[in-house]
Amino acid sequence: MPARIGRHLIRMKADSEYCKLDFGALHSPQNHGDNEMAKAHFGRREVEKFDLPPLCMKCGQPTDHRVSKRFAWHPGWVMILIFVGLLVYVIVAIILTKRMRLSIPMCSRHLNHWLLRNLIILLGFGLFGTLGIAAVYLTIQKQHEDLIKYLYGVAIFGGLAWLIVSGVIVSNSIRPSQITDRGMTLINVNKEFRDAWDAIRGATTADKTLTSKPDDDTLGFA
Ligand SMILES: [Zn+2]
Repeated sequence: MPARIGRHLIRMKADSEYCKLDFGALHSPQNHGDNEMAKAHFGRREVEKFDLPPLCMKCGQPTDHRVSKRFAWHPGWVMILIFVGLLVYVIVAIILTKRMRLSIPMCSRHLNHWLLRNLIILLGFGLFGTLGIAAVYLTIQKQHEDLIKYLYGVAIFGGLAWLIVSGVIVSNSIRPSQITDRGMTLINVNKEFRDAWDAIRGATTADKTLTSKPDDDTLGFA
């Protein structure tokens, strides 16, 4: 059989299997939950070819809502360059940063998953940063000396609390563990969503055995 026809037949089979997937059945009230987290890979060519399953990426609930989200990532070792110099770090980080946009299914409860995270981080940074600068300014100006110790207290302890809260929020949020020219790996993805997506992109795995340019599948999955 010519390779072209074989490829076409496999694609048809994959398409029909995709149509048969029952996403409602994949969701069961007993085992869905925010704490069943997994790692999922999204090849750039895969996400062009296939729609993501209509399940919330955070909790696994069936949903029709989509959130367009652009992820950015650079290798972790770049952070070490902060000790060399902030400008060096910024330049290398900008050069090495990879981006990838996804249209992500999210239920109404999790539509603002990243917005709330970013608001808490930015507002806290603005608030405690401003208090810290105000305290230093008043110290230099030798004004309101009775107020200064309270300002330092709030800026330091509030800032520490904000750092801890931000760390917990970021560690629980859906975020990339790697982005390359070929695709992206997201962590903290709902396991049911990941299983449904793997069932869909399993078609791609079959398809790529007949193509000379396979998607990057070398990252491994939890
Ligand atoms: Zn949800």
